[in-house]
Amino acid sequence: MNKKIIHSLKLLADAFDRYGDIACFSSFGKDSVVTMDLCRRINPNVQIISIMTPYKFTVTRQYKDYLTRKWGLNLKTYDRPLTTHSNGKKNLYEVSPEECCNYYKVEPTRQGIKEFKLEAWVSGLRGTEGHTRKFLDEIEVRDGLVKINPILRWTEADVWLYHCANNIAPNPLYMQGYRSLGCEPCSKAYTETERGGRWAGTSKEGAECGIHTKSLVDQKEMPVLDVHGKPKRDGGKF
Ligand code: SF4
Repeated sequence: MNKKIIHSLKLLADAFDRYGDIACFSSFGKDSVVTMDLCRRINPNVQIISIMTPYKFTVTRQYKDYLTRKWGLNLKTYDRPLTTHSNGKKNLYEVSPEECCNYYKVEPTRQGIKEFKLEAWVSGLRGTEGHTRKFLDEIEVRDGLVKINPILRWTEADVWLYHCANNIAPNPLYMQGYRSLGCEPCSKAYTETERGGRWAGTSKEGAECGIHTKSLVDQKEMPVLDVHGKPKRDGGKF
């Protein structure tokens, strides 16, 4: 376990050293809480960005406020107001979870990356959480934007061990049987697999909201890369 922590901290220290404009994204689930804590060890004032939606559990919102106060987080939250499907009657997630995630999660993530002019972002993604995450790398580059996954090789048990060893109170929803937390209508508790409760019973079961699979860079603003493949600061774009 110690080796994993040291490795994750080294990845983060290198990333913070290399990229001036870097932020840690957090959903205030168990994995991103660990990632935030690791980032805080490298830079106590690290920029945290959280994407909330009108469908997030109230408990998650309360936990976000609790941890922000307790840790004195430098937090920016993106929280789009409720919208309905174009038919005006149904919730967007009932008609199209894909469209819903895109509207409430992917687009605000893009907005955060653009507003903070980020060169790199840190995520709490873990390879063993679900089938969509098995073959990813600790450092990914997509359209010039770098993503660091410092706990990619951690297991679910490692995450809980870290909470215990560091006396971190978890999001209370885990005590109600949830193993992976998203929005309330799209998360189920007591599932056999860790990510099996996400969009359970739909074609999206156990899959992704899109922030780890779609481009987060506005195509009009694709950065020009330098000879090392690093985004150039070009006309204020990056
Ligand atoms: S997880 Fe569900 S409610 Fe949340 S944005 Fe995606 S589809 Fe909508």
